[in-house]
Amino acid sequence: MRKRYGMAVDTRRCVGCNACVIACKTENALPEGGFRDWIAEEVSGRFPDLSMQIRSERCNHCSVPTCVTACPTGASHLAEGGIVAVDRRKCTGCKACIAACPYGARYVHPDGFVDKCTFCLHRVRKSFEPACVEICPTRSLTFGDLADPKSKVSRLIKSRRTEVLKPEQGNEPNVYFLS
Ligand code: SF4
Ligand code: SF4
Ligand code: SF4
Repeated sequence: MRKRYGMAVDTRRCVGCNACVIACKTENALPEGGFRDWIAEEVSGRFPDLSMQIRSERCNHCSVPTCVTACPTGASHLAEGGIVAVDRRKCTGCKACIAACPYGARYVHPDGFVDKCTFCLHRVRKSFEPACVEICPTRSLTFGDLADPKSKVSRLIKSRRTEVLKPEQGNEPNVYFLS
C-alpha cells in the first residue's frame, strides 16, 4: 500500500514551549528569521468563560497541494509518502507557491529559494522521527503513515476528536489537531 505521511498534534498536551521550533531550526540549519514550524495560540469563548488552544503548526502536506499546482518550474513537487517538497535547484524564488498556500507555511530563504517543512524526510528515510516530534517534551506530536490503519498516528486520529486547519480551502491537510 502507498504511504501517506501525516501528523497528529495534540492541542491538549502542547504547552507552547517552542522546543519543536528550536529543534527544527537546528536540525535543518534554518536561516535567521526563517521558520518551518511555529506556535499558534487561539482564544475562544466569552469572558469569563474563555479557553485557549495552543498549536504547533507547520506545512500540512496537503493532499490537494495548491502550492505544487501553482509552481511554474516543478520545484514544488510531491515526494515519497505524499510529502510536499521543494527542489531548491529548480526554484526561482518567484513566490507563486507562497501566494497559493492558505497556511503561510513557506518563506523565502536568503539564498533565493522557497523553503518549508519537509516532515524531515532525510530523517524519516533513516527510520528516525522528525526532529520536532523527537524533541517534544510533552509528546504532543505523532508522525506516521495515515494509509496504515494500524499506525500510531491513524489510531490516535480515530480515537479522538480532530480538526484540520481551514478545511473550506479544499487543500485536504494531512496534519490533524486533536482537541
Ligand atoms: Fe508544543 Fe511540544 Fe512544540 Fe513544546 S515542543 S511547543 S509542547 S508541540
Ligand atoms: Fe502546500 Fe501550504 Fe499545503 Fe504545505 S500547507 S502542502 S505549502 S498548500
Ligand atoms: Fe521542521 Fe522536520 Fe518538524 Fe517539519 S517535521 S517542522 S521540517 S522538524
